[in-house]
Amino acid sequence: MHEAAHLYKGHSDWVKLDHKFRSSVVEGFEESIIPANKLAAQFLEVDADDCALQFVIASILSYGEDYRAKIAKVNKSKRAAYKLAFGSVMHSLKTLLYAVYVLHRGVDFGEWREEINAESHPRGLLRCRYVFNRFLEITMWHGIATGDREEFENFCLAIVLEAERDMARIEERESEEKRFLDVLKSSKASQHIQQINKMQNIIEDVTWQYVRGNLFPSTAKMKKKRESNIAFRGVNPHRNIGRPSSI
Ligand SMILES: [Zn+2]
Repeated sequence: MHEAAHLYKGHSDWVKLDHKFRSSVVEGFEESIIPANKLAAQFLEVDADDCALQFVIASILSYGEDYRAKIAKVNKSKRAAYKLAFGSVMHSLKTLLYAVYVLHRGVDFGEWREEINAESHPRGLLRCRYVFNRFLEITMWHGIATGDREEFENFCLAIVLEAERDMARIEERESEEKRFLDVLKSSKASQHIQQINKMQNIIEDVTWQYVRGNLFPSTAKMKKKRESNIAFRGVNPHRNIGRPSSI
């Protein structure tokens, strides 16, 4: 989904057609200077993460409803797995957050805190923080645990820490869950994300014309669809992502 989001949101066209950032630099973070094209590239990555996350959360919640109403197609040889993943809304969200966290954390164990990295992708831990905070926001749009968000946030935190412990056990190393907690609370991480998000309006001013609303997904069945219930970016991340988490 992440790669499809690059196409869907016009990122690939922007990279191909827009040369505005090729040589420019932006005054960065403390003493470091990050080339604007790298910040732009990092924005495209978290934007694709975000778009994919919205799609998958909407899909899994919708499928879960059908499953519990017994109208979903179920692979009979995997009944136990379906029950674990779709037995309740919380089962679905747990399964999804665990998987998304492991996916991002597993990509890159490098340190990120020394400076804003001048590579095309933000470091794995920073992406984890980005998707974790977006997970909390997107689930709120879906009305999850509206009565007790604090308990829900603790539930989500417990899931990612469980994922950390599982990864450490599999890789036979010490668990590093404290590092994720450090990133969640870090004002340096917030500054990095704010830097990346500065690119949003600049890039979206160009990419809106490439967004493939009618062409994606391109399967024959989906081409016939004339409307969609896919949640789309509806919140300005400047307001919501850059702040340090209260967790
Ligand atoms: Zn990507």
